[in-house]
Amino acid sequence: MVTLLGSTGSIGTNTIDLIAAHPDQYRVRALTAGKNVSLLAAQAKALQPEFVAIADPALWHDLQSALSGTGIACGAGESAILDAAAMTTDICVAAIVGFAGLKPVLTAIRHTKTLAIANKEPLVAAGALVLSMADEFGTKIIPVDSEHSAIFQVFETHHHNRVKKIILTASGGPFRTIPIDQMKSATVEQALAHPNWSMGAKISIDSASMMNKALEMIEAHYLFNMPPDKIDVLIHPQSVIHSMVEYIDGSILAQMGAPDMRTPIAVALAYPDRMKTTGPLLDWGAVPTLTFEKPDLEKFRAIQLAYDCLNEGVGHQIALNAANEVAVEKFLNRRISFGDIMRIVEEGLSLVPQGTPKTLGDILAVDQDIRKKLIQREPLN
Ligand code: NAD
Ligand code: MG
Repeated sequence: MVTLLGSTGSIGTNTIDLIAAHPDQYRVRALTAGKNVSLLAAQAKALQPEFVAIADPALWHDLQSALSGTGIACGAGESAILDAAAMTTDICVAAIVGFAGLKPVLTAIRHTKTLAIANKEPLVAAGALVLSMADEFGTKIIPVDSEHSAIFQVFETHHHNRVKKIILTASGGPFRTIPIDQMKSATVEQALAHPNWSMGAKISIDSASMMNKALEMIEAHYLFNMPPDKIDVLIHPQSVIHSMVEYIDGSILAQMGAPDMRTPIAVALAYPDRMKTTGPLLDWGAVPTLTFEKPDLEKFRAIQLAYDCLNEGVGHQIALNAANEVAVEKFLNRRISFGDIMRIVEEGLSLVPQGTPKTLGDILAVDQDIRKKLIQREPLN
């Protein structure tokens, strides 16, 4: 039994592609989406879950009428998403985008055996809480993010103290080779045009600013219990090596594959077994030379900010994520320039309140506080 939170997105539809190709192995218990009623209803008709939920309460009637006569129950609003997350399952795939996925993730941990987590923002803002709850409820967490899936596959947990460092690879995004000034005035279309991966809008912008790698550094810190000085970032434009682990004996283990999210999703769905992907396989004949370079920390400020936030603590990590979500939304709405994203993020980091947020309530309060202050300083209009 599988529940899919965020079924209409990029990760969600790739997950459904795999599940639909293996109908004997997987049955869907619940599906959820933000606003896309027509795709959610089509997915529900094809997969026959017990329950579907849409986050936008105004869309309840639309969803109900789209599903009339199917016998599939439905609900709307945040509480309905949490109802879906609370259904007992073997695997819950967390594929909502942003901090909005935090409460669903925490709810799912109580009711699923395995949490396949693509939704990185809850790990950035609340990694310690997510992992301690998973520990408490005996829930296995399997990363879906391709870098973390790669590390998960080559990480010898029993040799944790024999790991010299983990190396997160990064494509460098669409602006790797263009000058910084040109990057700062890039359009939404230019920023969305990722060279290797096809993804949702928010993560595509994050990849262009390399904030995606920054979030992934913090994600890796929590998932693999690695201190910041053991987390490295390496630019690898071909996206064939998805990440690596270096051991103290000098051995480096890498995981490779085509840049297609169905591979890491399949790893999480079938673990510890393996399942056939519906995506492309790596064609060695077509692979260009593999190259590597150090990231330009001046151009891609986000990487340094991630190290700073890892050293500063949880409040800064929540603020980094919240300010970035505010900034990316403004950029996608064409209210600010690409260069303003990092300015707003740094502004957010200057607003972190005193204290160490621990509980869900503390984390929600800091997140809200940062968003409110940033929006007050720079209203949308
Ligand atoms: P997306 O925008 O394509 O899809 C997001 C999904 O969440 C959709 O189903 C949407 O309806 C739903 N949603 C949006 N806002 C919501 C809300 N407030 N409440 C409930 N549901 C909501 O995003 P994506 O690219 O699939 O990314 C999903 C997550 O996975 C992100 O955290 C992203 O960083 C991570 N991730 C994505 C990829 C990728 O290739 N797309 C790779 C690695 C990690
Ligand atoms: Mg990734």
